[in-house]
Amino acid sequence: MDTLKAHIRSIPDFPKAGILFYDITTLLRDPQGFRAALDALALPYLDQGISVVVGIESRGFILGGALADRLGAGFCPVRKPGKLPARTISESFQLEYGTDRLELHEDAIERGQRVLIVDDVLATGGTAAATVRLVRRLGGELHGLAFLIELLALDGRSRLAGERVTSVLKY
Ligand code: AMP
Repeated sequence: MDTLKAHIRSIPDFPKAGILFYDITTLLRDPQGFRAALDALALPYLDQGISVVVGIESRGFILGGALADRLGAGFCPVRKPGKLPARTISESFQLEYGTDRLELHEDAIERGQRVLIVDDVLATGGTAAATVRLVRRLGGELHGLAFLIELLALDGRSRLAGERVTSVLKY
């Protein structure tokens, strides 16, 4: 895990003052690092009958697409407003200042399908909690949420109480 951490670059004050941004592009461009990250992300979910991986825009697409292939699952994107072309459902969530919204195609998940949600970073958990609501509204059976990085000080897990949450690297 320390080798994986060595591939992640942290950038102070990005995108704004006071935020320490965990940049995974330095991990993604390293073939062994990318593979090891996917191995660790996938491990708790092998042979669990996952049908659909839901990835959160945008770094959740990179990890989620590759993970779906490994798990023999399909992939669905959860996107920022106005990006998905067909009919969508949406959920709003609170940001530090104001609100944001996420969308999912209304036919993305079939009732009862077993779903895994994936993103790069679990921070406050607001983004992931909104994604959980989207999946449940379509009748998806949520099996868990997988993150590469968990920022423990922000306690995103408390927003996801009752869900199975796994993370590879804790900071
Ligand atoms: P949150 O809703 O607070 O859990 O924020 C999660 C979303 O914001 C994820 O999609 C992350 O990619 C992004 N994010 C939040 N904090 C950071 C951070 N410190 N470094 C990189 N990405 C972050």
